[in-house]
Formats: sequence, structure tokens, C-alpha cells
Amino acid sequence: VIEMGQPERSVITTCAYCGVGCSFRAELKGDQVVRMVPDKNGQANHGHSCVKGRFAWGYATHPDRITKPMIRKHIDDPWQEVSWDEAVNYAASEFRRIQLKYGRDSIGGITSSRCTNEETYLVQKLVRAAFGNNNVDTCARVCHSPTGYGLKQTLGESAGTQSFDSVMQADVVLVIGANPSDAHPVFASQLKRRLRQGARLIVIDPRRIDLVDSPHARADFHLALRPGTNVAMLNALAHVIVTENLLNQPFIDARCESADFARWREFVSKPENSPEALGPICGVSPDDIRAAARLYATGGNAAIYYGLGVTEHSQGSTAVMGIANLAMVTGNIGREGVGVNPLRGQNNVQGSCDMGSFPHELPGYRHVSNDAVRHQFEHAWGVTLQPDPGLRIPNMFEAALDGTFRALYCQGEDIAQSDPNTQHVTAALSAMECVVVQDIFLNETAKFAHVFLPGSSFLEKDGTFTNAERRISRVRKVMDPLGGKADWEATIALANALGYRMDYKHPSEIMDEIARLTPTFTRVSYAELDRHGSLQWPCNDAAPDGTPTMHIEEFVRGKGRFMLTGYVPTEEKVNSRYPLLLTTGRILSQYNVGAQTRRTDNVAWHEEDRLEIHPTDAESRGIVEGDWVGVGSRAGQTVLRAKVSERVAPGVVYTTFHFPESGANVITTDNSDWATNCPEYKVTAVEVSRVYQP
Ligand code: SF4
Repeated sequence: VIEMGQPERSVITTCAYCGVGCSFRAELKGDQVVRMVPDKNGQANHGHSCVKGRFAWGYATHPDRITKPMIRKHIDDPWQEVSWDEAVNYAASEFRRIQLKYGRDSIGGITSSRCTNEETYLVQKLVRAAFGNNNVDTCARVCHSPTGYGLKQTLGESAGTQSFDSVMQADVVLVIGANPSDAHPVFASQLKRRLRQGARLIVIDPRRIDLVDSPHARADFHLALRPGTNVAMLNALAHVIVTENLLNQPFIDARCESADFARWREFVSKPENSPEALGPICGVSPDDIRAAARLYATGGNAAIYYGLGVTEHSQGSTAVMGIANLAMVTGNIGREGVGVNPLRGQNNVQGSCDMGSFPHELPGYRHVSNDAVRHQFEHAWGVTLQPDPGLRIPNMFEAALDGTFRALYCQGEDIAQSDPNTQHVTAALSAMECVVVQDIFLNETAKFAHVFLPGSSFLEKDGTFTNAERRISRVRKVMDPLGGKADWEATIALANALGYRMDYKHPSEIMDEIARLTPTFTRVSYAELDRHGSLQWPCNDAAPDGTPTMHIEEFVRGKGRFMLTGYVPTEEKVNSRYPLLLTTGRILSQYNVGAQTRRTDNVAWHEEDRLEIHPTDAESRGIVEGDWVGVGSRAGQTVLRAKVSERVAPGVVYTTFHFPESGANVITTDNSDWATNCPEYKVTAVEVSRVYQP
């Protein structure tokens, strides 16, 4: 417990939890942080904050922090503390040995959405320039990769279209597959303010989330669809808009590809896409679907906000395209109060994607096969780059089990806990000859590591994060790295040990290089960020002050493109053995796998993950509140405590995934999005049975 007192100095920085990107004043006494105070000048939060950013920063100095590099030849050996030089030299020699034996493509790296833009940029540069391949991926693979794909196909840019403040101009808000009250609380407060002013609300979610009937705002419609049927629902909504002639024809004529629109119009007009046909599949009344579609299309400025409940499905990319189709057909894009707004989970999901962390894209979402772009980077980095995409994270696991992928550098990401089908992930990690984990704690993945490099928390480094509204904000160093190096310095040390020279003295120099090589960042620098407070990309000569709203005159791709979005049911089906559908989500006080928040006083608000089950399903299984229940799926089984709740419909169960003991990912399957391999976390067929009464 840190004793409060009068601060002696303060530093403005950015919260390292969710994609809202709140600005905070870290107040210090000596070299100890005593308070985090939301910054009233923060352009994403305007002085507001939630319990995570405000109170859950103590993990940074938790005794569990690992502050010394460690190595071990075999994962059964005890860890040996070594110097930084020894650790990075050992890692580098192992990487080179493995490449010599198994080939250039036998190693790869994973960047983290928890780290800064500068750090993720360096890791992908390390992989491309020093490893010599494109085997780099990011934890965005398992959350918003379908957003990148779907929005690029339809609108031409892999990013949300609006500022958070834009919601104050919305007349109708459609929230689908997101629970902002828990996952994006500061944005939720702003949304509720707008709802209190009279904006209308449509919620599409299997669970009765807080927004549906919170005291501040009631939804006009809650379409409680069956997990896995988002695309069917979006097609039914589009069907109503098209067949009832609620579309915005002038906008479509002026702004969209006419042949694609004609094809799509014919497709959604078919009777099989009507609410009467798809409503029963979704488990929602056709009348409610019709009424919600009319409200979205005719209620004035209509804005869509969505989250992982859209992306983490076998049709995640299709659903993102379905959302963009809805915005285009009603002309709800290209001005304040409308748009397509992915609510990014982690603080820097947007940034890690922007920085070229995907195996097929260089920074700025440019394909590695583009000769001109690749030559630009080759010239700047002094190497030859590969023109073929590398391995995605799930492909790395498969290749590890095949024996062709033998070593991994994993920065700030706990894949053994956060990726689906844990048994498969750990088998792949066990098969590798060298796993290098860089993290602040000895996480689950570190159990399979041969080298551990101490990571640095957001308080220990300079850099930038990019939030869900494309806002680049400064992260400022508050204290020295406990492990002696910030993450960007560790990557530089590893590159140099591999014989690839990196020579940055400060993260501002890395940002200057990013700006030189990325057309959407050309006017971004630390000096400009200090001058403006923050900047929303694109920020270049055409938009020197940044771009709060995108696609105003035309879409980034020129004309908007309607994409066909045929509904394909997930392969994850209920049957007599697994009759319930499990879906997952977050709770306000905790964050993702809980590595940070579990090490703060926030555990007082949420001590364990529980399984929400409807009273009828509980009763038929003899389950009462607080019982321990076994949850079994085709992938595995775990034990959770039951919470009997009408927030879920009969046939649906729900849990959070903040505690490793809950084993949520032991039961999730290998199914993934057809376009991006984003795991289908949100639909798992399970059976639930009482284990014993506590
Ligand atoms: Fe803001 Fe998100 Fe941090 Fe909460 S967790 S303070 S909403 S950035």
C-alpha cells in the first residue's frame, strides 16, 4: 500500500488498459507514484476515468515483477539470473543456430498491443530485417484482425471512422457485440450522456448488458440474438432497409461502386435474408428486427459501435463488412454523429496494427508484395525484404507441431493463457527449441521459455499509444525501468546481438523513422504531439492537424464497396452432449487475462470469474447460486462457480476470463474467422453440471 501525500511533481501520460486511451497525470512523491489523476485536458477522456486507470496501476511495482534477465537450457531446468548481455547473446545465438539448421523461416516474433507504437514497430523491424522473414504477428490477431480486413475491403482503411466525441451528434446508436459499460467505461459514460439527451439506442447482444436497462439509459430495442448469428442479423436488418426503400440512394450513387451495390442489393433482397427467414435462426422476433432497422435507417444520424462480440467469430470479417454495408446503404458515414466504430480492447490494438505487426503488411497497412513499398523500406533499413506474407500466430503453432517453426520472440503477450485451445498452444510451445519471453511477470507462456527478458510497464518508458479513434497520445516515462531496460531498448539489444545494427537513442527517433516511412504519419512527431496534445491519423500534409472524421468527401479506397455477406452457420453446434452455448466478456474492474489488475486492489471488486446461467437451465441441472460447476466442451473442461442470472437467455451461458484458474481458454475451440484466423472465442458448445456444493 502506498501512502498518499502531497505530490512533488507530476507527469502527463496515457492509460495502458483499454482502447479509450485516457490521459492521466501521474503524481509522484520522490520516485514513487502516489496518485493517478485523470487529465482534464485529455482529448479522449476530458477529465474522466474508470477504476482501472485510476486505481489499478500498483502492479507496476508489485513484488512479482521479474527484474533480472534469466536463461535455462531446458524448460525443466531452474532459471539462472544473468546479465542483459548474456541473455540477449544467448537468445541471438539460439536464433541463428536454429535458422542455420532449419532455415530462415523457422523463427518469428509476436508484438504486443500493450506496448508502445515505437516498440511494436521495432519488433516487426527486427523480424523483417534481422530474422529475414515476415513471421511477425500481433495479439490483435485474436481480437480485431477482422476489423482490419473488413474495413479495408469496404471503406479502404483498417480503422474506425470517428472520434469518441462524435457520439454527441448521434441520434441513434447501434451497439453490437460490445459492452462499453464494462470494457470501455469512459466512452460508455459519454454515450449515456447522449442517451439522456434523447438519442435512441439499439443493442444487439446475446446478453442483457448494462446498457439495455441501465438507470441512465434504456435501449429502445435489445435484440438478444443467439451467439454466432451476427451475420444473419445484419443481413436481416439490411433486407428491411433495402426492401422498404429506406436507403440513401443519392449517397450510394455518389459515393459507392454501383456494380457492387447492385449485386449486394439483389443478394439482401432475397426472401432468405428477410427477418421472417433469419429471425428464427437468430432467436429474435422478426417484428423487432424490422422496427430496429427502421429506427437505424430513419432516426437521423446513426452511429454503430462494435466490439469483440462481432470479430471473434468464424464469420468475424463478414460481420464487419455487414456493418460497413449498413452504414453505406443509409449514408451514415463521413460526418459527425455517424460512422463505423470498432471499440478496441487493448490500449494499443490500433497502433500495433498500424505499425506493421501483421505478417502480410508493412507499417501503414501496405502489403509486403507491393514492390515500391518494400523497396522504400529496404532502402531505409539496408536489407532485402521478403515479398511473401509470413506466418500468422495459429500458423506458427501448427508449424511448430510440424517441426518447421522452432523459435519465437514474444514481447508482452501471454499466448499460453490468452489464445484459444490452451492444450494446442502449450504443445506448440513445448515443441520449440527456443522461446524468448519478454514480460513484466513470469506469465504462463514463460513456463515454456528458455530466455526471459524483463519487460517494462507503461510507467517506465517514453513512447506513444494509438486509441480506438486513431488518436496518437504520448506515453511519458515516470520512473526508470525496474529491469534496467525499456522494451524498445531490449529489442535494440537483441537486434544488435543478431548483427543487425539498430541505433536509436530515444523513442522519438523511432517515431521520426515511422513518420518518414508511413504516409498516414508524415506530420507526427513528439514535438507536434506535445503541441497538439494528441493527433488522430491520417496526419500528413493534407491533414496537418490530424483527421477526427474519415471518409468525408470520398472513401479512402475511392468509392465504397458493398460486400456480399452470406450467412454461414458456425461449425460449433449444440447437440445433446453439449446443449448450451458459452460466450465470454469482461467486467469493469478487471482487464483481459488479469496479469495486471489481479495484482492490484481491484480484486476486491471481482475475486473470481463466474459462469452466468439462466434460472431454467440451472434448475434443470440442480444448480443453485454459488455452486461449483463443471463446464465441458469438445476442446476441454474447467470448473467455475455458478451465478444464476437472467442476463443470459435460456440455452446461453457466459463467463469472464480474468483469472487463469477459470481456464476459459481451455474450453474454447480452434475454430476461427475464415479471413483472418481470429479465434471464435464467442461461441463454444458446452455442457454444465454441478460438481459439489461449497
Ligand atoms: Fe480510460 Fe480505458 Fe483506462 Fe478506464 S481503462 S481509464 S476507460 S483508458
